Amino acid sequence: MSATAPHVLIVGAGTGGLCLAHGLRRAGIDVSVYERHATRADGLLGYRLGIGPTGSKALRECLPPELFDVFVATCARGPSYFNVVTERLRRTASFTLRPETDDVNTERSVARMVLRQVLLTGLEDAVHFGRTFTRYEQRDDGTVTAHFADGGTATGDLLVAADGTHSAVRRQYLPHAVVREAGTINIATRVPLTAHTRALLPERVARGISLVFGAGGVMGVLHVMEFKWDRRGDIKPGVSDADAALLRGWPGLPHTNTHDNINFIVWSTARRFPPDVMQLRGEELVRLARELTRDWHPRLRELLARSDPGSALPIKVSTTEPVAPWKSSTVTLLGDAIHTMTPGRGVGANTALRDAALLCRQIRAAAAGEKTLVQAVADYEAAMLPYGFARVADSLARSGTSGSDPLYRPVIGRLALLGARAYFGVQSRVPRLHRRFVDDFYTYRGEDD
Ligand SMILES: Cc1cc2nc3c(=O)[nH]c(=O)nc-3n(C[C@H](O)[C@H](O)[C@H](O)COP(=O)(O)OP(=O)(O)OC[C@H]3O[C@@H](n4cnc5c(N)ncnc54)[C@H](O)[C@@H]3O)c2cc1C
Repeated sequence: MSATAPHVLIVGAGTGGLCLAHGLRRAGIDVSVYERHATRADGLLGYRLGIGPTGSKALRECLPPELFDVFVATCARGPSYFNVVTERLRRTASFTLRPETDDVNTERSVARMVLRQVLLTGLEDAVHFGRTFTRYEQRDDGTVTAHFADGGTATGDLLVAADGTHSAVRRQYLPHAVVREAGTINIATRVPLTAHTRALLPERVARGISLVFGAGGVMGVLHVMEFKWDRRGDIKPGVSDADAALLRGWPGLPHTNTHDNINFIVWSTARRFPPDVMQLRGEELVRLARELTRDWHPRLRELLARSDPGSALPIKVSTTEPVAPWKSSTVTLLGDAIHTMTPGRGVGANTALRDAALLCRQIRAAAAGEKTLVQAVADYEAAMLPYGFARVADSLARSGTSGSDPLYRPVIGRLALLGARAYFGVQSRVPRLHRRFVDDFYTYRGEDD
């Protein structure tokens, strides 16, 4: 079989699309990325992403080695504990996480905006901002043409949908695929991290990931995000010379727009929110989060009161129904575009990265003449669909991310809450169960399936 050099069109400059673009570039494959947002800093009000071994492995495989080092240097300080607390800040469970021993086998705290700036580095000429994909045409000569809202087009050999939950490519390619609301709504906020706000948190909460299992069906999660740079963008004292040199030489730092903060997300069943919640922003949204948490510990309420109103974001949680395999072609999908999942297990981005690395390997094999491009896509899809939809199912079953979770029922909810707290309490107190819980925390996103 003769080698061909495909031109790959990627729709969406998100986590998965940009990781794939790097991998293809490294392999010398021509790639263009089309992103609807107008600039590199638009559209990403954000929350923390937990990148585990699966995500880090994919990034290491696709990124140039020096950019992977920048990724590691730009992560926030890793969590030391996984805590479960009540709404009154009483500790239900606390698991000691592993210290960072290597660059890949660890849990990393990443800000979405920072990750995007890392992934854009070196791809400036390949990413086209302000290009909203509208539809595609598959041509008889085997090429595929993407059409954009500005009237422009682009033609290549493969079109990859990396355009997230509301994928326009998926709507055309797999119109029968079902994305549905999971029935919960999150309000995500960022609280500037100061000596005062840090002092509001118990020691282990200040150094970990903390789930709040609140009475009355209101949940929360807190992540303390501490970066190696200060508010002015200067490297903090105590940062190693190697990291300081990497960060000073990284052109993405001025675009990150992200400083030390406490990510505070409050969520509940959609029934608890007003019908116009998705239109609310700023102070109104913070006020709503404070109303939902009126019985919470005054320190948690003070944190919400001190949150940056401009960071407040309503998120309607979505999930997907499994899609039966289809006949592969010159259009394919990765990440949320095919398997949107709830944040229940914190693996959506990890799975998008895993897809990107896998698809990249397959396209490289096609470029090397080992298989046709359509066979490469078929091999990718045959592997991706089972693990992708397994993650969707696990995520929906977790931590009250489905609106039909018993936690949100009027009477039974109280029992469900006591059961959940008892479960975590036992897991953290029995050494064997504690060890297994921590092992699962790291290996769940592994590539066993
Ligand atoms: C609250 C919350 C917490 C989460 N926490 C975690 C976590 O801890 N760990 C984890 O692994 N995952 C987590 N996730 C999931 C994670 O955010 C997503 O799964 C991941 O970002 C998906 O990446 P993607 O590349 O598929 O899509 P995205 O990163 O969403 O990128 C899609 C891109 O496509 C662009 N686009 C959309 N439509 C068009 C169009 N028509 N034309 C051109 N461009 C378009 C968008 O602007 C965007 O840039 C969380 C999700 C939520 C909601």
